[in-house]
Amino acid sequence: MSGAARVLILGGTTEAFALAAVLCERPNTRVLSSLAGRVAHPRLPAGNVRIGGFGGVEGLADMLQSECIDAVIDATHPFADRITRNAHAACRRAAVPLLRVSRAPWAHVAGDTWHDASDIEDAARIAASLGERIFVTTGRQSVAAFAPFDRRFIIRTIDPPAQPLPANHLLLLQRGPFTLDGEIRLMREHAIDVLVTKNSGGDATYAKIAAARELRIPVVMVQRPQCADIESVDSVEAAAAWAQGLS
Ligand code: NAP
Repeated sequence: MSGAARVLILGGTTEAFALAAVLCERPNTRVLSSLAGRVAHPRLPAGNVRIGGFGGVEGLADMLQSECIDAVIDATHPFADRITRNAHAACRRAAVPLLRVSRAPWAHVAGDTWHDASDIEDAARIAASLGERIFVTTGRQSVAAFAPFDRRFIIRTIDPPAQPLPANHLLLLQRGPFTLDGEIRLMREHAIDVLVTKNSGGDATYAKIAAARELRIPVVMVQRPQCADIESVDSVEAAAAWAQGLS
């Protein structure tokens, strides 16, 4: 490849943000980050940024060609599986190299009581069978799954959910990172007896897992969707090294 490499980062995560900052420092790389537009006031990464869906596989494949993209790094959230599958298909169609960067999942440690759930509906059923006061931290797009259950729900999201909420709920609009002390205080204050979370991995929201361990609260852990067969790394450093080989 001659000239600067044009890299599209599919973002919306701390990893994508950090990767854009690293790649923008390189004179031989041009970075375009893409955000879905779900969050009202997103942190904008370094370099050029576009916001909003592409219009499925076809829209993304067309954009890769029209913007002369040399490589795509899918740094979206581990649970954002539609965009990951679309990126896989679009990159194949446009013959553009693709790398997935996805933080490692959290691992169970001594003292944790985890109940694995295959998806959010499964998680809601398990949580309702375990307790009465349920702390839901699975994101604004997941809240409807809890609506059928007659329990007390403490629901924490960044932006207000658009979906129907359970009748008996308290909505907390908060963005991480969260501290261990703060999470323990919150769980005690609301007498939480079950925590529901996706296995997102990373440091920014791990404090709730440690707090649940300390308070001996069971955790319903939604497992990650199975990823397509894509070359993957689990760190920003490894993704940056991959991109170094492009130019
Ligand atoms: P998703 O279900 O995998 O994607 C749904 C659609 O949203 C995609 O088909 C695509 O629309 C658009 N989209 C998603 N990510 C995009 C991006 N980075 N740039 C442009 N379009 C994007 O995604 P999701 O679970 O709704 O997540 C949306 C965004 O929020 C992701 O970027 C993700 O990194 C971030 N996020 C997700 C979670 C989570 O738990 N799912 C948590 C934190 C952050 P078109 O088909 O029109 O192209």
